[in-house]
Amino acid sequence: MKNVLTILAFLFLVPSLVFGQPEIPVEEWTGKTILLIGAHPDDDAGRHGTLAMLQDNGNDVHILLMTSGNVGTFDPNMTRTRLAKIRRQEQLAAMADLGIPESNYINLGYTDGMLEFADKEEVVRRLVYHIRDLKPDVLIAFEPGWGYQKWHKTDHRAAAYLAVDAARAAEWFLLFPEQIEQDGLEAHGIREYMFWGSEGNNTTVDISDYVENKINSRSRHISQFTSMRDNYISSNLEDLPGDEAEQFLERLRRTTGPEEHFRYYRGAPDGAGSRRD
Ligand SMILES: [Zn+2]
Repeated sequence: MKNVLTILAFLFLVPSLVFGQPEIPVEEWTGKTILLIGAHPDDDAGRHGTLAMLQDNGNDVHILLMTSGNVGTFDPNMTRTRLAKIRRQEQLAAMADLGIPESNYINLGYTDGMLEFADKEEVVRRLVYHIRDLKPDVLIAFEPGWGYQKWHKTDHRAAAYLAVDAARAAEWFLLFPEQIEQDGLEAHGIREYMFWGSEGNNTTVDISDYVENKINSRSRHISQFTSMRDNYISSNLEDLPGDEAEQFLERLRRTTGPEEHFRYYRGAPDGAGSRRD
């Protein structure tokens, strides 16, 4: 009986270890093109240690966000246009802290909070265009199942599906064929995925050398994470009232650990939502 259990454990565990883990640890990746797709400026913030490390190790990291973040405020004097500009500057400053150049940032400019109601075919077509153009080896995105479904935030729900839908569409040359026939792009299949917000995390990345980068980059989003959400004054932390700047940085230090967690998946995009990798 014990032998049978051992064999069963072997049969079920080994495939998940083989296919559910990167062949080479993420910390040793180099020469890869990495694309992160999210909904808002700052959606990438929880993965900043991994992004800084990958960029530093000779990978080419790109960040694509679908909305401009133009609604995320309670400041009654704020406008959509002004907030979109503020959040672009915050995002670019954060990326600079990670060593990622401005040229590696794409924003599709959809309205914050309304991504679920955008024309899905158009969004996927635009995502497919960038996937075929950049040819990423790895897609980092919201988990397209389980955990995020309980996390009731409409744009995140939409972004989770849209990113994987686009990855799937990008490899079929008869989908959006005008990009191939007229724009000179090629169909492209992404074979490695790292999802965040999953209940099925299977990969831990050691970011201990990049904790400072992550604290700095997270601190850039002051229109979101401080009282400037209610009363936007400036892009300078020093302009926060009282000792809030100090407390904010202390909170970031306390909540920025030496690890980041993902659900890694290797294979065709059709299976990316499957728990069994
Ligand atoms: Zn978000």
